[in-house]
Amino acid sequence: MAEASQTTDVSFTCQRCSMPLKLDESFRTVDARLCTEIAAPVVLLKPSSQDEPLVLPEPSTDDDTVCRKLTAPLRVVESENYTVVVGDNVHKEPGKFSQHFEMTARLFDVLTDQSEVEHPLCEECTDTLIDHMEKELSTAESEVKDYKRYLSERSDNDEESIEDLRADLAKLQAEEKELIETLHKVESERAAVFHKRDLLLQDKKRLEEDEKKHFKEYMDLKRQWICASDEKISVENQLAYAQAQLDLLAKTNVFNATFHIWHDGHFGTINGFRLGKLPDIPVDWKEINIAWGQTVLLMNSLAKRLSFSFGKHRLVPFGDRSYIEVVSEKGTEKLPLYHTGGLRFIYDVKFDLGMVAFLECLSQFKQEVEQRNKNFSLPYSMLDGKIRDNNSEKAFSIKYQLNTEEEWTKALKFMLTNLKWAVAYCSASSRDAPS
Ligand SMILES: [Zn+2]
Repeated sequence: MAEASQTTDVSFTCQRCSMPLKLDESFRTVDARLCTEIAAPVVLLKPSSQDEPLVLPEPSTDDDTVCRKLTAPLRVVESENYTVVVGDNVHKEPGKFSQHFEMTARLFDVLTDQSEVEHPLCEECTDTLIDHMEKELSTAESEVKDYKRYLSERSDNDEESIEDLRADLAKLQAEEKELIETLHKVESERAAVFHKRDLLLQDKKRLEEDEKKHFKEYMDLKRQWICASDEKISVENQLAYAQAQLDLLAKTNVFNATFHIWHDGHFGTINGFRLGKLPDIPVDWKEINIAWGQTVLLMNSLAKRLSFSFGKHRLVPFGDRSYIEVVSEKGTEKLPLYHTGGLRFIYDVKFDLGMVAFLECLSQFKQEVEQRNKNFSLPYSMLDGKIRDNNSEKAFSIKYQLNTEEEWTKALKFMLTNLKWAVAYCSASSRDAPS
């Protein structure tokens, strides 16, 4: 047990619990020889037998930097490794203290170096340490047994396993070689594929440029097509309009359009002007003259259209002063187709002759037309200044003199009707004729 004694000159402390130590009497006999023997290498002291436990160094749990603890109130004396407390009476024998202390301290140094456990230790700490070391020893022994067993198992199977491993190795090496060949093959294929890919990328780039160019051309052409389509539609519209106009014009009879022959009660009319007189409807001579002027103009135009001439007669359209010239051996006689209203007796003769001559001209025209087209005929026959209703077989004189106004008016209406039919014939012939 460590117990500080007042009579002790030098006191060491336990390096674990710091309790002051009372050294055993045997320490008084420590000398240099003993120290040298103890300081011999531990390796030489190790047991050679496997059965004996191995001495394993205990890992140091103490911090080396911590100063070893002292017991007060003694004087501190520094040695190489130790701090020791020294009582006052030590001074009385300095030489003896020094020699004994050094030997003891050296002994502890040697023990510390060899066992890697800090010395000195008190008895309790030593017991605790021994217990701890025994536990570690048993653990280590158990591990050693395990290792030994494993080692023996391994050595038993060594021959067989080495053969197997060699076979495996050869197999793996063959496989490695095969895989390396495959790898080379794959790498060359990869290089070929990359090369092909590069070529394809170049192709792709070129095709994309082509596509852009063609798309631009396509858009240009499409724009042109749209413009052309618009133009085509426009032209078609114009054509349709022109065709419609042409159809309209083809259906339009220029004579009908220019000379509208119709009727107004008992009167025949041309362009709205009445031709004739009735006792209860006294038509002004001026209107009758204008109507006659239109009639002469129409007759003359129809003759020109058919390139037909009226023999000794020549129509002269001159508004409300139109007339007919009759060429004979005696000379040219001028027969008026207008009435001034005055000088009735003398004047009426020439007016009547003019109207008879006009009817003669119409009759000639009728013959010409019927000659050209057998299927065509005018509804009323005309002869010697009279016009005949084919249904009633009744003839009406076109002369104003010695005639009733009713019959004269009727004769004029029939005459206009014949003229209307002549217009229809000319229109039909002009449509059938190649333009
Ligand atoms: Zn202790």
